[in-house]
Amino acid sequence: MSKQRQLIAGNWKMNGSLGANAALVRALADGIGDEARCDVALAVPAPYLGQVRDLLGDAALASIALAAQDVSPHASGAYTGEVSAAMLKDFGVRYVVVGHSERRQYHGETDADVAAKARGALSAGLVPIVCVGETLAQREAGQGETVVTAQLDAVVEHLRGTAGDDAVAGIVVAYEPVWAIGTGKTATPAQAQEIHAALRRRLRQAGESTAAAVRILYGGSMNAGNAAELLAQSDIDGGLVGGASLKATDFLAIVAAAR
Ligand code: PEP
Repeated sequence: MSKQRQLIAGNWKMNGSLGANAALVRALADGIGDEARCDVALAVPAPYLGQVRDLLGDAALASIALAAQDVSPHASGAYTGEVSAAMLKDFGVRYVVVGHSERRQYHGETDADVAAKARGALSAGLVPIVCVGETLAQREAGQGETVVTAQLDAVVEHLRGTAGDDAVAGIVVAYEPVWAIGTGKTATPAQAQEIHAALRRRLRQAGESTAAAVRILYGGSMNAGNAAELLAQSDIDGGLVGGASLKATDFLAIVAAAR
């Protein structure tokens, strides 16, 4: 069992509307109440951050944190369409997902981009959730561990070089095998644990206590039926949940499975 309080983060992706968000957030706030057994976050589309913050109010924000799905690596300036970390902070955001495979795949984000975003988020006081994951072809070629550890190294080395070892302790890592995202195929608990343990070993570059402090989430078709077994693995410290975060009963069941 992991040592830290687990984190269950919902990633709504590009889904939602004012009406649907209100119903979902109210059901989640009612279901989670004041004393969630784990940390909970909702990564909502940027235009709805203000709405979801208002729906949660100060009381519920203590148990359900607000998260963003992306952030600019730049602090401010002529970057049309971008949203800065400071702007997210203004809206009460605590976490931001960086390097999601959909951004790497469809928007050409590189490891260097992801590292710069993580650094920018930390500088503004946000917690970056750094996503890593291999494709099916990479896994079948026996390169899964090499790919994900290289993705993590890029971020860890950048943070150590620019902000020191302590900065690494401020991140969350999410292992999301690309072949498991939105496909209904989940890594087995053993497959996930093996990669999580490898990621933990890499984090030790920044020190034993840092490696122990960083939460490593699993993401990829996590659902109400498979969450408990995944979350029971020793190096799985929570979940990043896509599709199942859009249904209150499913997301609440995953939260209930966390420790
Ligand atoms: C995700 O997009 O981060 C994700 C894990 O999606 P899903 O749970 O739908 O596979």
